[in-house]
Amino acid sequence: MAKQKQNNESTPLRAKDEGSLTPEPAECGRLSEGLQALASQLEQYLTFEQQDALANRSEWQKALQSSVPAQGIGFDKVIDELAKYVIPNGSQIPNPGFTSFITTGASTMGTLTSLACSVASPQRVGLTAFTFLEELSLQWLASMFELPAQMRGVYSSGGSVANLVSLGVARQSTFEALGIDPAEEGFTQRCRIYASDSSHRSIHRAAAILGMGRNSVVSIRTDSMGRMSPDALRKQLTLDSIPDSKQDLAQVAIIANAGSTSTGVIDPLLEIGEIAREFGIWFHVDGAYGLPGILDPRVKPLYRGLELADSVIVDPHKWLGAPVGIGATFVRDRELMSRAFAQGASDYFEGSFINDQFSETAQTSMDSLGVPYSDFSVELSAPARGAVVWALLREIGTEGMVERVCRHNSMARRIAELAKAHPNLELVQEPTLSICCFRYVGAEGSKGAKGIKASDLNELNQRIHRRLIKNGRNMPSTAQIGEVLAIRPCFVGARTTWQHAEDLVEEVIELGAQLSAPQ
Ligand SMILES: *Cc1c(COP(=O)(O)O)cnc(C)c1O
Repeated sequence: MAKQKQNNESTPLRAKDEGSLTPEPAECGRLSEGLQALASQLEQYLTFEQQDALANRSEWQKALQSSVPAQGIGFDKVIDELAKYVIPNGSQIPNPGFTSFITTGASTMGTLTSLACSVASPQRVGLTAFTFLEELSLQWLASMFELPAQMRGVYSSGGSVANLVSLGVARQSTFEALGIDPAEEGFTQRCRIYASDSSHRSIHRAAAILGMGRNSVVSIRTDSMGRMSPDALRKQLTLDSIPDSKQDLAQVAIIANAGSTSTGVIDPLLEIGEIAREFGIWFHVDGAYGLPGILDPRVKPLYRGLELADSVIVDPHKWLGAPVGIGATFVRDRELMSRAFAQGASDYFEGSFINDQFSETAQTSMDSLGVPYSDFSVELSAPARGAVVWALLREIGTEGMVERVCRHNSMARRIAELAKAHPNLELVQEPTLSICCFRYVGAEGSKGAKGIKASDLNELNQRIHRRLIKNGRNMPSTAQIGEVLAIRPCFVGARTTWQHAEDLVEEVIELGAQLSAPQ
């Protein structure tokens, strides 16, 4: 303040054009007021008592559809429109009965911290409490999920980018061993990435973006549960390693699921990891959904071999309850990350920083950009996501996370139990984590005397599923498992409780009876 005044006195600057006299049109204060106005609407939304968005479409579309406004309507009227037309017509994803996706609604702490980040740390740079928590929370995740001690992480917008980053580092490592710097020079060799059919499609997209091509992803056979067969993997690797066929063939990565998206199965990590070591190939574990499963003592043994991983990803915006936009990649060597992704020097910052990170000599929060996360991934500007993860863990601790993960895994097991016990239901696959695939088979279904035709059963379950979604009480997805169309709830939401498991089963039995009754 004082400085500004002095300036004004000593150099009486005059506005030379009209622009300099116009005040900023956007409101930059009134935060509490705005929050208060929206908070009650948001609370109301979370009761899920209002109609589904689509039911009111004609009203809100009419109100919202317009060409770009030449004149703004001002702060208060936008708040009103948000409250009246936008918020009440939001998504079913945070509904506790919604179990279709693996992303969920954020817990309150996630929402609040995310807001705090957007206000107080719009970037993950500088020597601030927010950037301190970026690193600390990554270490917390690594420690909670028992990742190898050397592993360091970087946040990104989600599992898709986290997989892209992992494969970028795998590509760097593989080609450097061949004497080529792929990030600098590009490459001409054909590549191979080994994954199972159950792997997430973001792997194929990452292969495409990284110049290896979708076809470089070789699909390794799975067992009846959808887990990668180590024998099939070994066979394929051996075939590709024959000197003749290996000509110009770069074997970039082996990818294992720690919780597949469709059914939640975990590949045999230990066997796959050992094969990866033996063949000297990068071992990536995709734990976007399922890494937190390691917190459940009942399934923890399935994570043996995680210690062999070269890269691991997890999505805090799935089971941990963060708002969407937070994924994390962990690798052993950040230098490698940096060689794969560094943007290079830019003139506009040259000389701005002493680059000391959190050292004794740094005197202001802008003496250094801090850990150069933007060199480890594909984003330059990015939110300070770590504070959100820190807050989620600080609120409920690892013990709270253990409780949530165990509760959700138990819910999947409860459904399995009910499906096995009920004559009208069939368990399609035993749950590994918090996904349970089951279906309605009719009073005289496969367990009864006269089974309904397989194709009719798929159609019936599809109709049951559509009705479930329409009713809006329990909203699972479906999943194709071999020839069978199953109903697939995936329990990850913090708001989703035990009751939802039993209620879903009841509703499926009711709807199944209604829809299969002779007309
Ligand atoms: C969800 C998921 C992804 C993709 O994550 P996004 O955050 O949706 O980009 C990748 N892999 C697995 C196994 C997933 O479940």
